[in-house]
Amino acid sequence: MVDVFDPASIKILLVDDTPENLEIAGRILLGEGYDIYLADTGIRALELARQTVFDLILMDIMMPGLDGFAAGRQLLHLPTQQGTPLIYVSARAEIESVSKAFELGAVDYIRKPYNPLELKARVKTHIQIRKLHEQLLAHKQELEKALAYARSLAKTDELTGLLNRREINALMDYEMIRAVRNQHEFSIILADIDFFKVINDTYGHLAGDQVLKEIARLMRENTREQDFIARWGGEEILLLLPETGAGEATELAGRLRRVIADHPFGDSGQCYHLTMTFGIACHHPGMALNDLLNKADQALYEGKGSGRNQVVISSLSCTRSAQ
Ligand code: GH3
Ligand code: MG
Ligand code: MG
Repeated sequence: MVDVFDPASIKILLVDDTPENLEIAGRILLGEGYDIYLADTGIRALELARQTVFDLILMDIMMPGLDGFAAGRQLLHLPTQQGTPLIYVSARAEIESVSKAFELGAVDYIRKPYNPLELKARVKTHIQIRKLHEQLLAHKQELEKALAYARSLAKTDELTGLLNRREINALMDYEMIRAVRNQHEFSIILADIDFFKVINDTYGHLAGDQVLKEIARLMRENTREQDFIARWGGEEILLLLPETGAGEATELAGRLRRVIADHPFGDSGQCYHLTMTFGIACHHPGMALNDLLNKADQALYEGKGSGRNQVVISSLSCTRSAQ
């Protein structure tokens, strides 16, 4: 049912106010190789349980002072005993007592006098269940971690760490719905590296990859938290700017253009400069996503045609250049 466990690693707390009972149960379970702790009062049991995480607790019910039910209720709430199985071992045979024990959170109820074989079998079974539960929790945590990682991978471009095309498409769809509902504007910027092919041809493909990573970093550092940045294609970056009109988008693109143009790329041995061209489109009510993307693309194309290293804004009514 579960991987074999080492009994010596299993800590069991025995609670009983009668020394002979502690001795009998202790002897039986020590014989199985378990690590046994003894408490002769409910108070003592709580003291021990605050310091030690037990794998199982066997508890008498009728005890002077704090009885087994009161002690058990407190024990099960201790941070150290979350998930620790509690078994009552009692001479009280009436069903009310048994039922109360289970209501309180006990996993089992053994009536005294018990047969040692029964005690051993029940203890072993509950430890196995506990271990199985621990394994399940550990697997669940691993799975959740793996799932979160897989989800982030599915959204991300591997090289740059930016969002990928599929994710930005979904975000643009969502932004479009939000913008229409709340009557907000939003803008997109399509940015493309100028003469990137020359960088690859001159410094090699790996250097080109490094440039893409560096540009992603510069863009992240120079945009707001709420802006989304994606790798749209090979050396094309798409920025989605929620609740942003033409003026602000143009300002941002202008800043990014300057940051990139001023940035020394390469390493100390081979330092070089490059530029990017930016096409901006603003979303207006009623505009389809494809139209918006086409507008940004046309603006970018216009910027490439008129000398590169510039920002061109497209709108429904006009297309103008801006530095
Ligand atoms: P333009 O100014 O007109 O944009 O010229 P360009 O050279 O940048 O444009 P072109 O479309 O001719 O070339 C783009 C280059 O980008 C060619 C392609 O090999 C390169 N590229 C695309 N993806 C990657 C990548 O992941 N890594 C590297 N190193 N290069 C890439
Ligand atoms: Mg290019
Ligand atoms: Mg290109």
